[in-house]
Amino acid sequence: MTARLLDGKRVAQDIRDEVKENAKPLIAKGVTPGLAAVLVGADAASKLYVASKTKASAEAGLYSEAVLLPEATTREELSEKLDELNERDDIDAILLQLPLPDHLDAEEFLDRISPAKDVDGFHPVSVGKLVQKRPGPKPCTPAGIMEMLRRENIDVEGKRAVVIGRSDIVGKPMAMLLTHANATVTVCHSRTKDLPAVAREGEILVAAMGRPAMIRKEFIREGAVVIDVGMNRAETLEQVKDFFGDDEKRLRTFEKRGSTLVGDVHPKDAMERASAFTPVPGGVGPLTIAMLLSNTLELAKARRG
Ligand code: NAP
Repeated sequence: MTARLLDGKRVAQDIRDEVKENAKPLIAKGVTPGLAAVLVGADAASKLYVASKTKASAEAGLYSEAVLLPEATTREELSEKLDELNERDDIDAILLQLPLPDHLDAEEFLDRISPAKDVDGFHPVSVGKLVQKRPGPKPCTPAGIMEMLRRENIDVEGKRAVVIGRSDIVGKPMAMLLTHANATVTVCHSRTKDLPAVAREGEILVAAMGRPAMIRKEFIREGAVVIDVGMNRAETLEQVKDFFGDDEKRLRTFEKRGSTLVGDVHPKDAMERASAFTPVPGGVGPLTIAMLLSNTLELAKARRG
């Protein structure tokens, strides 16, 4: 079997186009949905993420603001900044880019964002609403995966789904959304016994551990839909060849940059065993940003629509 590649870039572009279109009536009323992305410190990857998020929201016709704070920002200063954004009428959505510097506790500040502006859906109020299947912002990565399954006509109802990873950001909300879509869900983690056998039960398998290409053939049921959330780097030529064979594009990227992206699933193995598979890059990643825009629009509609 050769898996069908699920094109996250295309699905994400469709969602972004829809956000742009659906924001128009609100903008015509004088309400431009506004996103504030708060970054503390100068972590290069985080800076890049924030830049791509604000760029994408501008492209969708939304207002966006990057709030860049120095590494030495104190608890009081970050609290004040979040309070100010909570108060501002033109800001509908607040994103706090993680990780924060060590002296700042992420939980304290995620809790400080008003639930009405909680674009990532990480606030306990949003988590409660998600569990109870009430309207509210849902974490962007799992929400994007559900959107892709729906748009790719992959039926979830009644299916055995296995989610590997139980983080608040990906694994847990993913399991909840799949449950709401009537899948029968198993959640696995680092203490799961005989993980390959449990994973093989999944007609839908979601891998979100942060372990490069850990999911090999023996984890994948023949014909499963495999969703690879992982974003890791292959940093040796041996790894690149093992994961991607003689794929020239990968080898060129590796020569140029000294690494190439790889997910949590071994791509060659998934292509052989799965019926559908999300590539890394170009699978789940683009959906996360698209859902951020979608959540921003929904929060603006709820507050000022
Ligand atoms: P995380 O907070 O580190 O959680 C990892 C989870 O995987 C934990 O529940 C952990 O189990 C489990 N795990 C780790 N090693 C395992 C193993 N050997 N066997 C079974 N389970 C194992 O990570 P995360 O934030 O959920 O992110 C997961 C991956 O997704 C990362 O690669 C991240 O970069 C990527 N990601 C991508 C996007 C995107 O937009 N594409 C968005 C978010 C995250 P325990 O709970 O027992 O420790």
